[in-house]
Amino acid sequence: MGERMRIALIRGDGIGVDVADAAVAVVDKAVAKAGLPPLSYDEIDAGAGYFRDRGRDIQPGGEERAGEADAIFLGAIGLPAVRHDDGTEIAPHLRLRDRFGLYAGVRPVRAYPNAPQRLADPRAAGIDLVILRESTEGLFYSAAAHGRSRVIDDRVADDTLRITRDTTEKLHHFGFRMAKRRKAKGKLGRLTCVDKANVFVSMAFFRKIFDEVAAQHSDVETGHAYVDAMALDLIRRPWEFDVMVMENMFGDILSDLAGGLVGGMGMAACAEIGDEVGLFQPAHGSAPDIMGQDKANPLAAVLSGAMMLDYLGEKTGQTALADAGEAIDTAVERGFAQNRLRPIEFGGDMGTKAMTRELIDLLG
Ligand code: ATP
Repeated sequence: MGERMRIALIRGDGIGVDVADAAVAVVDKAVAKAGLPPLSYDEIDAGAGYFRDRGRDIQPGGEERAGEADAIFLGAIGLPAVRHDDGTEIAPHLRLRDRFGLYAGVRPVRAYPNAPQRLADPRAAGIDLVILRESTEGLFYSAAAHGRSRVIDDRVADDTLRITRDTTEKLHHFGFRMAKRRKAKGKLGRLTCVDKANVFVSMAFFRKIFDEVAAQHSDVETGHAYVDAMALDLIRRPWEFDVMVMENMFGDILSDLAGGLVGGMGMAACAEIGDEVGLFQPAHGSAPDIMGQDKANPLAAVLSGAMMLDYLGEKTGQTALADAGEAIDTAVERGFAQNRLRPIEFGGDMGTKAMTRELIDLLG
């Protein structure tokens, strides 16, 4: 028996609540199956619904409690009808990203049998890659919420793309560690730096730091790609890529493109990791169009839960936690292969609850 892990749980709004419940149920089953002590959950109220009812977007002390947990799990936040006076949506999770310096945005993209395959080439069945998106700076340094843009006389608008050595070194080391761990699991284990170093000084700096860090990880195969060429290759030969590390805005765009190759938002798992804190959430939003109808595909949340267990295993050295995460990945793969997972999102007959029950079954 290992140490009991504490999870800060923010279920949020819309389908966030349903998919968070699904992820918790599946994670709990995998943890029990591995003979580990049950996770303890500290539920924190936050989101647009909470804001509508209470006039603030997260309960008092919620951010501090999130930081004290071993990991944070979040369903989804936001409702289009609930906004601040300036028209922006409720987004306490963006503050968590800033507050805890969650620079490493991890977005795995993987093809599963019997799930939609958007490319005709049969090799698309072998897509298994990770977009590693820097998540605290880049062009998002200037995101409207930070108030750093400059508008001159209603004629010119400037945004700033910022790359810092400190964050970029950490990001690249993270990428190399991930490539090595994937290699050990029999994957390609290759790291590609995606940038626009031929045009921008900031991007040449990003690449220079990549090459410096690469010299400390000489056992990992590396490559460079310009982001425009990468967009082309993600359509032409995505099965040849493994981990791809890039600036925030490039990652924002390419992770959606890559996600589209293997299905839809209901498969888009996501981890946001900093030096001390890791936050796990599906990359999709609260999907108000399907909320309360048991139609949401819980797999993005469930796979994010698997990443959380992997992270906790690495953080604490309890390999059984990482094994529990891997058991979830395997269950999803087997479930698709045996046609036992048929989400409504892909034209199937299984709602959130049926999918959850089947996943628990698949875990044995
Ligand atoms: P946000 O800006 O917060 O990402 P959004 O409304 O732009 O929110 P989503 O909430 O991700 O985007 O929804 C986009 C589309 O994808 C919607 O049509 C929604 O129904 C669908 N969708 C999102 N997540 C899922 C899911 N888990 N299962 C099924 N369909 C989903």
